[in-house]
Amino acid sequence: MRAWPWLVGGGLAAYAWSQRDVALLIGPLPGRWVWPVPRWNGRAPMISDGFNSPRPGVARHGGVDIMFERASFDAFKPGKPNGSKLFVMPDGLPAVAASDGTVWSAMHTPRGFAVVLDHGPVKVATFYTHLEKLLVAPAAPGKSNERVRAGQPIAIIGASPLDAEHLKHLHFEVWLGGPSDRIDPAPLMRGWETVGDPNALCARNGTLVYQAVGSSGDSYPDWVRALKGKAGVYVIRDADSHEILYVGSSAGRLYDTLTRHFQTWRRSKGFWKGQYGEGHDPGLTYPRASVEVAVRLTSPAKSLDEEMRLIAKLKPRDNLIGRTEAADEAIPF
Ligand SMILES: [Zn+2]
Repeated sequence: MRAWPWLVGGGLAAYAWSQRDVALLIGPLPGRWVWPVPRWNGRAPMISDGFNSPRPGVARHGGVDIMFERASFDAFKPGKPNGSKLFVMPDGLPAVAASDGTVWSAMHTPRGFAVVLDHGPVKVATFYTHLEKLLVAPAAPGKSNERVRAGQPIAIIGASPLDAEHLKHLHFEVWLGGPSDRIDPAPLMRGWETVGDPNALCARNGTLVYQAVGSSGDSYPDWVRALKGKAGVYVIRDADSHEILYVGSSAGRLYDTLTRHFQTWRRSKGFWKGQYGEGHDPGLTYPRASVEVAVRLTSPAKSLDEEMRLIAKLKPRDNLIGRTEAADEAIPF
């Protein structure tokens, strides 16, 4: 048993508390703390398996597992990676930093990717595992200085490769020092807020970052090629005047849809004639060197909504819908 004089008064340091007592004694931790799993479609995350729960053949559970309570309309079948009988976890949801801190380690382990955040100067660290993909830079212990903010996505939640059921969930621990000083985080977490789904936040409120796409004949930059197979919205603007020229979207072929705008020879030869329904035509073509493009990734289901929202907001010069509205206004009946 170690004493933590920086967390409790000297008179209490001799008290032989249980781990649960420690969490109750230290009270709220300094700074902003949030649940390490964001809300999902408005649903708050829950502890699906608590601290110290017995585990067959292994030591007791050293943290809490976090998922969402199953709703009657959930399509996820029990026994599959996205759901147990009582809880569900969708694909692609990020784990977020529970508080401001510094990445202490972010690496691959037999139980999936794992991240440790140091929340100094307070002697508190948080541990996240069964992660499918890191969103912070990989780092050996003590080798990173990457700062994170409370609620910032740090990884995508996955499942432990050692778990036979491969059930997706976040395993989360709070350490008052190192891994041997882990406590039950549940009493603390009762006072923590939850953050919105960062994917949704990004889609609606993120800044549009415009980038050049190179000149005709160049290969496309990496960020354009990374759009292959993705869903989302793109905005094309004039590189000099910054006039918004066109907003388009794709539910899964963002790269093809965007790059068609720069294939002027195909347009002039009628290459796509009859291939697209109204509203899905790739639109006008633009000389690559004279425009800049901003892209916002969305879920496939949300790409068209986001396109409509951006058209209404940005009023692009060349969109069919924008032109129709302008024409309607000019007609006096
Ligand atoms: Zn666990």
